[in-house]
Amino acid sequence: MQGKRIKIPEKFAYVQFFYYFCTCKSYLRMGKTLHKVLLISTGGTITMVRDKASGALVPADIETFKAFMPELFAGEIKVDIQAFTPLIDSSDIGPEKWAQMAQMVYDHYEEYDGFVILHGTDTMSYSASALSFMLEGLNKPVVFTGSQLPVGVLRSDAKENLLTAIEIAAAQDEDGDAIVPEVTIYFEDRLFRANRTTKRNAEHFSAFNSYNYPALAKAGVHITYQPHLVHYNDVNAVLRLHTAYDPNVAVLKLFPGIQRPVVHALLRTRGLKGVVLETFGAGNAPSDKWLYRELKSAVDRGIIIVNKTQCNTGSVEMGLYAVSLNLMKAGVLSGYDITTEALLTKMMYLFGENPDNPELVRTLLQKNLCGEVTIDN
Ligand code: ASP
Repeated sequence: MQGKRIKIPEKFAYVQFFYYFCTCKSYLRMGKTLHKVLLISTGGTITMVRDKASGALVPADIETFKAFMPELFAGEIKVDIQAFTPLIDSSDIGPEKWAQMAQMVYDHYEEYDGFVILHGTDTMSYSASALSFMLEGLNKPVVFTGSQLPVGVLRSDAKENLLTAIEIAAAQDEDGDAIVPEVTIYFEDRLFRANRTTKRNAEHFSAFNSYNYPALAKAGVHITYQPHLVHYNDVNAVLRLHTAYDPNVAVLKLFPGIQRPVVHALLRTRGLKGVVLETFGAGNAPSDKWLYRELKSAVDRGIIIVNKTQCNTGSVEMGLYAVSLNLMKAGVLSGYDITTEALLTKMMYLFGENPDNPELVRTLLQKNLCGEVTIDN
């Protein structure tokens, strides 16, 4: 709500002072302090324009983007912007850029009430999951968003997504505490815990879903938060930044008819430390003896293999069917209901943080660190 402005003659300056004093006080009473949000732009479709020569979408520069978004500077929330130079497509984002984003949040943590990260949708769930592990003890919102159409296109979803994400990043309760102090993704009309999301749609505006955990907020005329679903850290927690990532991991997706040389080659990759094994249904795999031997031999060589179902919804339940018993015998761990994006980035983070302690990595992979998996620790 904007404070009313009344023109008062200069000789009544003390009246003017009194008026502004009362206005400020009423802002405070309504919980309306001025909030500050840092917008970190990495690129993505939201920032793109069509290249005349190739016809393909390419990221524009940040000034062009700002010119399309005058609303950013007209609201009650003070928005500052920092951008990657150049802005990039999210296919070019990996562990190094995750560290850059996390570092930017960390460096400005005290100055802002919340953070919004503009990011391409293609790998947003990976980056956002990674940041949920890298920013330990987070007590402020870090909201990822982007759009399916560039900001300059008339029907674009950019403005709605970005402006609502900013409002969520600034949202506080009556005690002045952030309502959703987690890493999240806001898209279309839903706010999801980042490390529960998957990009599900390359066409429609609702690009993301969180299959195994409900939305933390829904936006309509009002934004309806679900505080009972939010992961809160201890209010006195100190933010700790972790940027060490080890990308020596792989995804092995099983399919009917998969051949031994394929599995053998992947599991013998030099330097490999962890494997996300994408299985059928409740965590099942073909019962071929060779598959058991390959997996067992990899586990014996110190490779950590985690069972992740290819289904979006539901959980791995090893032992439910006989065809998963071999996986258990081989020493494959359960991924429960985690997403591939969260599991992969969690592995990279844990191997990066604990290079000489695979036992600890195994233990922590079986624990819920920041709401990414349904396990009773
Ligand atoms: N290729 C784009 C990106 O991920 C797609 C998008 O932003 O929606 O950067």
